[in-house]
Amino acid sequence: MTHTLTILGSTGSIGQSTLDVVARHPDRYLVHALTGHTRIAELAEQCRRFSPARAIVATTADAQALRRLLDASAQERAIQIDHGPEALCEVAAEADYVMAAIVGAAGLPSAMAAARAGRRVLLANKEALVMAGALFMDAVATAGATLLPIDSEHNAIFQCMPVSTSGALEAADQRVSRVLLTASGGPFRTMPVERMSDVTPAQACAHPNWSMGRKISVDSATMMNKGLEVIEACWLFGITPDRIDVVIHPQSVIHSMVEYVDGSVLAQMGNPDMRTPIAHALAYPERIASGVRPLDLAAVGRLDFEKPDLVRFPCLDLAYHALRSGGGAPAILNAANEIAVGAFLEGRIRFTAIAQVVEQVLENVAAEVPRSLDDVLALDQVARVRAIEVVRVAKGDRSPSQRIAASF
Ligand code: NAD
Ligand code: MG
Repeated sequence: MTHTLTILGSTGSIGQSTLDVVARHPDRYLVHALTGHTRIAELAEQCRRFSPARAIVATTADAQALRRLLDASAQERAIQIDHGPEALCEVAAEADYVMAAIVGAAGLPSAMAAARAGRRVLLANKEALVMAGALFMDAVATAGATLLPIDSEHNAIFQCMPVSTSGALEAADQRVSRVLLTASGGPFRTMPVERMSDVTPAQACAHPNWSMGRKISVDSATMMNKGLEVIEACWLFGITPDRIDVVIHPQSVIHSMVEYVDGSVLAQMGNPDMRTPIAHALAYPERIASGVRPLDLAAVGRLDFEKPDLVRFPCLDLAYHALRSGGGAPAILNAANEIAVGAFLEGRIRFTAIAQVVEQVLENVAAEVPRSLDDVLALDQVARVRAIEVVRVAKGDRSPSQRIAASF
């Protein structure tokens, strides 16, 4: 049977990997819509190759640019081109399957639209659950949507969980004692801590095992990514933070584990390649080829494990703190982090200042419990404005020498 598929964020790392898997199974998936925020030439190329019914971009100018590129290539099928956040929500509600792979808070409304429309939601956009976990899980349950995790750790946990009667993702029951969430430790796991304030965006984005977008690469380097993933796991699997242990595993071969009350620990393994979780969620409960090379354990040689160092990685601690505070705190954490990571990538603050910005914003914005998507988006805005101020004050109008001397 053929399923229609919308890929939100098709020009990104996850979006491209999804199209790579889809191209291997043209009889199973019909691309309904592709969306991109920048990289219009790449989006045009994807449209030529996959002939979606619709393509969504950010602005009218982008829509015109895409139209020109497609007209020039005499497209067989007329593609309806639209722009803006409402159009993203439309295409999210229209297809059988929706890959939610927009990065950051910008991905929340369209992921929510897919959930509300009762679709099969392949969730890569972890920020949606961090910002609006309760509302998102409610929307999934109310609309009868099928939620499948794409984040490699959560996909691994899902694969290691007891099989539920419905086959759908369900809260962990009393058979499960603990979830072991693995983390590579990123590129700075062994760097002397005092050198971490001088690392560059290029160094932070050079992940040892995974090839990813720039924002999540920086999150992996600060380990905020693991903090966001702990929050994500709590919502997906209905567990409390004390039942999740983060384990550093530098080889990224075990993608996560589930421990049972009888002492059994089940692990899901594979080469670090996002096409595995993508193929798993696309085909679930069947299995399809993904193009991922077989795991060669002899070549891997050894698997190492260690405890995370919270002095080296204060962002992980801040995420636990936000999770325990509850209410809107995780949404504030996420917004502050997005601003801080953006400022770091633009060379405006130091790597070590990311945690400082997040901490200050968490201390200064009231974490009221959001009751609606609008509440979440309003809180996100307040936290962003505050974070921008913190970055500005931190940078100040100092002279270059003072700026270098400052910790930010
Ligand atoms: P990316 O930066 O490579 O791609 C992001 C996509 O979102 C692009 O298509 C971009 O055009 C689109 N986008 C960006 N801003 C937008 C906006 N304001 N409005 C609409 N579209 C916008 O990111 P990625 O690495 O593919 O990550 C995507 C999501 O998947 C993130 O939430 C990330 O945490 C999650 N994820 C990624 C990986 C990975 O290996 N890359 C692994 C696990 C989870
Ligand atoms: Mg992950």
